[in-house]
Formats: sequence, C-alpha cells, structure tokens
Amino acid sequence: MSRNLRKERAWLLTVARTVAVRLKQYSDGTKIRIRKPTRVTESNTDGWYAIIGDMGKNQPRLEIWLDRFSGYPERKLYACFRSAEKEPLMNLTKHVSRNLWPVRVITMKDTNGEENDCILTDRLKRAEFNVPILEKYEEECVYYFGFYDPTRKSEDKINSYFCDRAVAFFEDVARAQPKATEQDEQREVYPQLENRQQVASHIRRERSRYLSTERKILDDYQCQVCGMRFEEVYGEALGARYAEAHHLVPLGKLEGAVKTKIEDLRTVCANCHRMLHRMDGKRDDIAKLKATLDKHRKK
Ligand SMILES: [Zn+2]
Ligand SMILES: [Zn+2]
Repeated sequence: MSRNLRKERAWLLTVARTVAVRLKQYSDGTKIRIRKPTRVTESNTDGWYAIIGDMGKNQPRLEIWLDRFSGYPERKLYACFRSAEKEPLMNLTKHVSRNLWPVRVITMKDTNGEENDCILTDRLKRAEFNVPILEKYEEECVYYFGFYDPTRKSEDKINSYFCDRAVAFFEDVARAQPKATEQDEQREVYPQLENRQQVASHIRRERSRYLSTERKILDDYQCQVCGMRFEEVYGEALGARYAEAHHLVPLGKLEGAVKTKIEDLRTVCANCHRMLHRMDGKRDDIAKLKATLDKHRKK
C-alpha cells in the first residue's frame, strides 16, 4: 500500500476517534453506545470506514467514512448510520426532526452500480454536501443515513468542523428517537415569560445541534451582539468552537411544526444569550440589545 493511502487511512482513524470521544460527551440520555475505533475497514466505494458505535443490539451502527462515493477525485469524509435491515434505519429517520429535512434519497440507480469502486453517477453538488442523504440499496440489503463533509480544504489535523457536524448530526438523530431524554444541562428560569411551553419549544429549537452548528460555523463562532469570541477570551484549548445559538423567531409564532431555518438562528455568547431571553422574545431583540450595549459601552 502506498504511503498516501496509509496516511489517509490513519487520518480517517484519527477523525473517527475524535468524533467518538466528542460524541460521548453528548450522548447521555440517548441510545448511542460509543466504541472507540481501533481500525478501519475497506469499503466498496474506494475508501474505508470506521465504526464508532451503535444504537443498540441489531440497531443501526454509527460510522465515519472516507471515500470517493460523492464523485470527486479526492476522498471526502462522511458520517452515517448504517443498517443491514430496512426497518431499523427507516424508523430512525422517521423520528428525525424536520430541521434535518429535506433529505436526499439515493438508490442503486444513482450510482455506477459497480461492486467495488461504487460511486455516484452525477457527483454531489456543493450545496448538497451537508444535506442528509438517505441511501437505500434494497438489492444489497444495506441502508445509510448520513452527510458528506462540506469543508473545502482542511488545514487542521483532525478537521474539527467535520467532527462537530458529525457529533451534532448523530446527537440530533438519536435525541429525536422515542424515549430519549432532553438534554437537561441547564434548566433556566425566565421569570418575565408567561408561556412556559413556548419557551421550552423555543429552547428545543435552539438545541437542534446540527443546524446551530452550521450557524456557528457561518458566523465563525462570534457573538453577533457584542462581537466576543470565546477562543479569544479563554484560549484555544477551552474556547475554540464554543458559542451558543439564539432563535430569532418571536416566541408567540413558534406554534406547531414551524421549520427552523439557518437564517432564523444567530450565534451569540452566553451573556448576550441570557440577556436576549430576558427581553420580549421578538425578532428585533438582537438589534435592540446591540443598541443597548453600544450605548452603555460608550459611557
Ligand atoms: Zn455577546
Ligand atoms: Zn435563545
């Protein structure tokens, strides 16, 4: 095996281990069982995959891939649930929050049909990279639900953005399943808000990790109110890629199944976020808070 291939395999293993370690911190209350991978296995898509866990016995596995299936000459990272049976995987996607849809469906017809080096006939468009894909190969008895890494080029040794996206994706899907519990990290009190159910649903939307991760990457983890970046204040080890996401849509309008869009989210720091939740729950709260902050900073 050439040195390059060996390097790529080693890189995949490092990325998969990083996802496993990070996901462990976020999988409480879900069915995810993490296992730190020790090796990669050759795939039929001109690449390899590593297993990082499963959703229980005979349930879909969690895997990280590096392969050419997307149709590009260079191998791309891919994070997915995989199952040899249709039911468990379809059940998994059934409960996934609407925030992750539309999901693109791919079947054997969309590929070159090769047994080895199986790739997409029309390569994935850039914009489709982080749209979850549901792959159904009834003939081969294998089903996947996952997404490709949209990062153009990764300077960073482990591709942190991809790892964050993968953790967000796995957690969102796992937490949407029946019997998973809400992450209970902070039961905040919002004394000025009367409709607690609306507040709860508002916060649930903000916790949809996949979309909010996308938003934070877009805003480069910078607070859109005060401009603060955790990394600059607390250093890289602790503060890198930390921020919170706030949902702009007024609380009163959050009834029913309104789909969260990335445009409705804003990256904020923890302080500004608390202040926003002490305000009226209106769309222009961010602008108002910014004005307030500017006024008081000038003093
Ligand atoms: Zn801030
Ligand atoms: Zn918020």
